[in-house]
Amino acid sequence: MNKAFVREPDDTGQSTCPRCRSLGVAVHEATLAAHLQPAALEELADPAWFCPFPTCPVAYFDLFERVATVDSFIKPVYPKDPTAPICPCFGFAADEIEKDLAEGGVRRTRALVEKAKGPEAHCSTASPTGQSCVAEVQRYYMQRREGNRQE
Ligand SMILES: [Zn+2]
Ligand SMILES: [Zn+2]
Repeated sequence: MNKAFVREPDDTGQSTCPRCRSLGVAVHEATLAAHLQPAALEELADPAWFCPFPTCPVAYFDLFERVATVDSFIKPVYPKDPTAPICPCFGFAADEIEKDLAEGGVRRTRALVEKAKGPEAHCSTASPTGQSCVAEVQRYYMQRREGNRQE
């Protein structure tokens, strides 16, 4: 990565996606390298951010508003691809949560959350944000449960 002309992030360290203006999630180079094809990786400077907006084609962007789009991913990534695992560490996808919801239980989701706290989890490279997948799993569960209640 070219680090020669990097500006500092603003005071908050936050940056917004140049395409959809969602607040980006700051990522480390190791996370980028785990998700982007080498050619796309070359295009971005450190620091870089992940755009979490599901339908936005921007995967990662940097301070110069250069972007790597979702076609640069090595593997499909949730939430850009809703069928990709929410927790790639354990291949845990939304359909597992859907099964729990259909049963009115939390068995699968709770087991994942427990495992994801353990040493086998490698979210810092497996997750596209480099952060724990647990928050994303819980968010999905809560959103869907709320949705079911309103139906
Ligand atoms: Zn975006
Ligand atoms: Zn994980």
